Amino acid sequence: MTVLALDVGGTKLAAGVVTPDGHALSFVTAPTGIDDGPATVVDRLTELGHEALRSAAALGNKAGVTGNDVVALGIGCGGPLDPGTGTILGPPGLPGWYDVPLGPLMAERFGRPAYVENDASAAALGEYRWGGWNVRSLVYLTVSTGLGGGVILDGELFRGAAGQGGELGHVVVDWQGRECGCGARGCAEAYVSGTAIARRAEEARQADPASSLAGLPAITAREVVTHARAGDRLARAIWDETTAILARTVAVLINVWEPELVVLGGGVTRAGGHLLDPVREGALRQAMLPAAKACDVALSGHGDTVGVLGAAAIAFHHLERSEGA
Ligand code: BGC
Ligand code: ZN
Repeated sequence: MTVLALDVGGTKLAAGVVTPDGHALSFVTAPTGIDDGPATVVDRLTELGHEALRSAAALGNKAGVTGNDVVALGIGCGGPLDPGTGTILGPPGLPGWYDVPLGPLMAERFGRPAYVENDASAAALGEYRWGGWNVRSLVYLTVSTGLGGGVILDGELFRGAAGQGGELGHVVVDWQGRECGCGARGCAEAYVSGTAIARRAEEARQADPASSLAGLPAITAREVVTHARAGDRLARAIWDETTAILARTVAVLINVWEPELVVLGGGVTRAGGHLLDPVREGALRQAMLPAAKACDVALSGHGDTVGVLGAAAIAFHHLERSEGA
């Protein structure tokens, strides 16, 4: 038995066929092409899902591993969304996605039940099951196109009354601060997400032609890290501010949830220790003492597959529930 897991990001789509022990038999990605609108992106996601099925089936044929016994779909997507109906409700990272019935559409196209969950909540469950952490409570943050969060409390995924619980990227760090895609001001996402880091760097370099960032055709978060490491003063200042804001946010989350572990994942965490070290140090220093002592901060070991494994964990979670019912 396997599941087909789909991860819908603002920049990247990913798909994979995953076994009950969290092993991805296939893993494929494609650019989201967000400007093409939901209908085209949903077609692209369907095609990517079929590609993941084909490559898992090919592997199965070769190695005797089952790759074609997919019983359900798990789908992770930015919120807000309704996990009950599988409908996407206008996420900041997916402009124009209002009332998109992603779950029903995918269930129909693949002829199997499809379970939709917030991408970061899904990844939190994936980390809890297969991250090898051996904890009962954890907070997961994805630092990607957006800044997303998921919370596991006493081994259970926290959803809240309407399924949006754990929207941790919208913790406000400056109530008069930058506009956020959610409509509020000063959310951590407006500073720390990949998109926000690139935007802040773009603005800053306009005012600082001496910076090595000034010569680049377009800036990404990755370039901010590279140039900061190479000693560019402006890039360094932007990166230091980013890690300081994230550390502060993580400290708040530690105080609120008192988890045993905070796991960081998503594209921006490719910065490795350049992200983890200052965030871990700053968060554990600023969080309140008993909570800080009981907690650690770490990077996901799942790399780029973290979203797909999360979506798969959601599918298995639902399958287990329906078996038990
Ligand atoms: C959304 C979250 C999502 C995150 C990462 C944010 O803009 O509000 O629901 O988890 O992006 O995709
Ligand atoms: Zn916000």
